[in-house]
Amino acid sequence: MAYDSIDPGTAAALRLDAELRRAHPRTILEAAVESFGDKLALVSSFGAESAVLLHLAAQVKADIPVLFLDTGMLFGQTLDFRKTLAERLGLTDVRDLRPAYQDLAVSDPQAKLWQTDTDACCNIRKVIPLDRALGEFDAWITGRKRFHGGDRLNLPVVEHADGHVKFNPLANWGKADLDAYAAEHDLPAHPLVAQGFPSIGCWPCTQPADEGEDARAGRWKGMDKTECGIHVARAPGTPNNVGGDI
Ligand code: SF4
Repeated sequence: MAYDSIDPGTAAALRLDAELRRAHPRTILEAAVESFGDKLALVSSFGAESAVLLHLAAQVKADIPVLFLDTGMLFGQTLDFRKTLAERLGLTDVRDLRPAYQDLAVSDPQAKLWQTDTDACCNIRKVIPLDRALGEFDAWITGRKRFHGGDRLNLPVVEHADGHVKFNPLANWGKADLDAYAAEHDLPAHPLVAQGFPSIGCWPCTQPADEGEDARAGRWKGMDKTECGIHVARAPGTPNNVGGDI
């Protein structure tokens, strides 16, 4: 494929994607670290399946910056899990990203925005804090997988969006791969998994999934919304707006 006619960031991502399309997640992480070094971060929700990617990353680079979006609306169990899992895996640079006080004071002073405008709520609690934090990085790692369906069905292993290269090391793995890896390394599960939550976000917008439903069926249940916005590419110069998830 000729890369001359496309922008350098997209060309670099396409080259890496072609190289790594069938690689093991650990190989993908090693390539990401080799390519971007200190300009690389990992974004994690410390959710239902997060332990696998975090364990793999800790083996490759224990001091990788891990960006955790503490929206102020998370389950208490998630906050506990973030602390205990980071300690257990030896991750030394987990950063808690919180919404700006001013954004909350102006747009969500009563913390009820999720009841009327979930896109706006995700914007001030997830999209803007992550955009600010990613300013010091050239590339980041996500935990998205194709088997979660929806917009993720065609997920590449490496992509380019909003000025950053994004690595999706688990894109190719299915639920059985994740379960086998977690069992092999005796990784702890998020405590809400046992209560029927296969995907875990903020408490107002997360419900258990029913038998046979997609893993993310309990997120924004009953709404058209399926993503929070952090994976929606925006045209240069446009403000943050709508809703992708970690
Ligand atoms: Fe707000 Fe719900 Fe988005 Fe969390 S998931 S930021 S509570 S709308």
